[in-house]
Amino acid sequence: MQSANHTVPRFAWLDGEVVEWADARLHIDTQCVLGGLNAYEVIGASWSEEDEELYLFRVQAHLDRLARTMKVMRLAPAYSRQEMAGMARTLLALNGFRENAFVRIVVYFGSGPLFSHLPDEVPTGVFMFAKPAHTPSLQGLHVCTGIWQRLPDLAAPPRVKAGANYQNVRLAQVQARIDGYDDAVLLNSSGKVCELPLENLFLVRDGVLITPGATSGILEGITRRTLLDVAGDLGLTVVERDVDRSELYVADEVFSTATQRGVRPILSVDRYQVGDGEPGPVTRQLYTYFQDLLRNRVGRPEWLTPVYRSAIPAAY
Ligand code: PMP
Repeated sequence: MQSANHTVPRFAWLDGEVVEWADARLHIDTQCVLGGLNAYEVIGASWSEEDEELYLFRVQAHLDRLARTMKVMRLAPAYSRQEMAGMARTLLALNGFRENAFVRIVVYFGSGPLFSHLPDEVPTGVFMFAKPAHTPSLQGLHVCTGIWQRLPDLAAPPRVKAGANYQNVRLAQVQARIDGYDDAVLLNSSGKVCELPLENLFLVRDGVLITPGATSGILEGITRRTLLDVAGDLGLTVVERDVDRSELYVADEVFSTATQRGVRPILSVDRYQVGDGEPGPVTRQLYTYFQDLLRNRVGRPEWLTPVYRSAIPAAY
């Protein structure tokens, strides 16, 4: 079955130009193509039927994370935050999306001898594309803890959202699928729980929400941050701390979070059933609340950037 992501949009954006999809090409002799040397973000855009509007979610937080990634990579931005945010929005509008979508912003290293040049001796560029997004659902996942460890911070920091880091999570995800699971949970080199290949992880024990901390080897996800920010409003206590693998086996609920998938229930880990094997009450509550947040149904309008309303929003 093809996912919605295989749909081809009309326009992309490459180094300052709007280009037809077929013309959005990068040369084979770029550090981006050869070594995966790029920093990127995927920003969600949710369609609201009520408002007849497409809302980008937490653009500022995504641009902050992009800036942190570029800093660690010593990758100088070719465009300002304002320009990138404006382009992301324009691209969605040009493609005429009236459905859930996402924009991928990629800042890349161009041509130059691989690895040997200082960063300011290698040209950089930016490309962006937008595509329809997965439809979020409460369909649960069966995951394993797998054979591949999460990259350690001292080698290739997972908090850096670099294309090259995705070799690590791809190995874990592909192995999980070959072994008959939907996905993997990566553990770090101390054996503590990190995250899924493309999603952060939470568990619920005795009514308390728990998620591995920022030093456990995770990507600091915007959806994860959002749940930490709103948990108090929903009367939930949340703790960031180390999580043992066996805690996943005895948790009342386990779920994952990501821009493209929202909140997803995890129904078994290493074939240990989680709770009663159905999405739990906290998972359901957060799933619905998050979908409402994305569509301007609950009060955090400062996190939303309307695509079709004309005024350019405040500074990014
Ligand atoms: N972990 C990894 C490794 C990811 O690639 C993603 C997706 N960006 C996430 C977690 C979830 O982050 P976010 O909520 O910002 O999409």
